[in-house]
Amino acid sequence: MADVLLIEDDATIRTALTRGLRERGHAVTSSPNALDGLRLAVQDRPDLIVLDLGLPDLDGTEMLRMLRAVSRIPVIVATARDGDAEMVPVLDAGADDYVVKPFTSAQLDARIRAVLRRTGESRPDETVAVGGLRIDPRGRTATLDDAVIELTPREFDLLHYLATRPGEVVTKRELLTEVWQVPYGGADKTVDVHLSWLRRKLGETADRPRYLHTVRGVGVKLVEPS
Ligand code: CA
Repeated sequence: MADVLLIEDDATIRTALTRGLRERGHAVTSSPNALDGLRLAVQDRPDLIVLDLGLPDLDGTEMLRMLRAVSRIPVIVATARDGDAEMVPVLDAGADDYVVKPFTSAQLDARIRAVLRRTGESRPDETVAVGGLRIDPRGRTATLDDAVIELTPREFDLLHYLATRPGEVVTKRELLTEVWQVPYGGADKTVDVHLSWLRRKLGETADRPRYLHTVRGVGVKLVEPS
């Protein structure tokens, strides 16, 4: 059903959940620590991550912040404590849901399906419309006010990625990971250059933006022009 990455240091829990989720049709990979988990998340792009908060190398909340800087993969946090003091920072850091230990594979499976239903609302192959922009990922065509925009494949992917997240600031790091598929390294300059080409094709400039707004020091967002 889904590619799940399980990040859990307790070998007994890890084995039991891996088996339980596989029995329910999921493909499961796992990591016993945060840093390998982060690497797997970026390399393998699972559909969803189950993240234990108490890990040996990094605090789970810290790892979640690092992940959120580069990826929107849905995350369900597994925690032993569910008080506000524990959970508010985790949800603020970008967790999509949480389960409280001890929990069964059946409960986790139900949460996974619920989160994927919720986060999967915008199907990746659906035409995206923002203002006068229409982007059809199946036909790989983009139009602005009904006129076709001629885009290179990379420009198309970049525009499509930004348009699926209207109004949201996307970091250059995330763009390098998700659009260029460069999990580490890569140059911000590459993103800047493609953004400037894209701007020109949209008939706008960085100084007088309509759709593409640079957020200095953070990234870029695509908005519906007012
Ligand atoms: Ca643990």
